[in-house]
Amino acid sequence: MSEPHDYTVQAVILRSRDYGETNRMITLFSREEGKLLAVAKGVRKPRAKLAAALQHFARVEAQLARGRRFDVITQVRVREAFYGLRANMEAFAYANYFAELLDASLAERQQKPTLYDLLVDALAGLAAGDPPDLLARYVEISLVSVLGYLPQLTHCAHCGVGLAFIGEGGRPVWPQWLGFSAAQGGALCTDCLPHVPGARRIAAGVVQVSQVLLAHGVAAARELPLSDRLRRDLEHTYRDYLEYRLETRLHSTRFLRELADKPAAAD
Ligand SMILES: [Zn+2]
Repeated sequence: MSEPHDYTVQAVILRSRDYGETNRMITLFSREEGKLLAVAKGVRKPRAKLAAALQHFARVEAQLARGRRFDVITQVRVREAFYGLRANMEAFAYANYFAELLDASLAERQQKPTLYDLLVDALAGLAAGDPPDLLARYVEISLVSVLGYLPQLTHCAHCGVGLAFIGEGGRPVWPQWLGFSAAQGGALCTDCLPHVPGARRIAAGVVQVSQVLLAHGVAAARELPLSDRLRRDLEHTYRDYLEYRLETRLHSTRFLRELADKPAAAD
């Protein structure tokens, strides 16, 4: 039996670019079909009906017609525009980063409904004004977990020893510092740290916060006391690991860093 000519997906618009004289090529991340590229025809003409619905990061219901090279978007209904993203430059920049991450991580037509739900929840959080940095860490570690390359976070990725000691009453006792090596696949004990080329020293809190994010989600991690140093270590450790695993530079992180470093405007 041949595939039906038309189909409908729930999708988030990850990115778009000009294509031909009046068209745009849209990258959709759909719940049903994974990431897909589709052409929106004529949307750069004045008064094009589809154009208004094809906003970045909007959650839409899209109808597509199968084409020879690319499928064609024939109808779009906006389900959630996430207006809050458009009013806040930092939230918009993080949404752009999440879109870049998903785009870089996924092959076309690879079905990942868990990641679709993760993205929609993360965009809703940003649009609602949730503080973005731990949300970004949650997206990052959930992404590597779903893709099957969660870093080693309980035992040294080099020698296998437990990263926390067992203290009185069986409670784990953490050293202040650990190592991390993307190439080795995760955290390192302090003995191995000097012997692994390219390893970085990290606050042990990076591993503890990661465990809380994975087990209990972003709301639980927000309850933890996090120093600026620990937030920076988390950000750099995850970014290095993602860039190593995805074999790409994540360009939108540079803009996020510039935003974070900009002194708050005086009123
Ligand atoms: Zn070790």
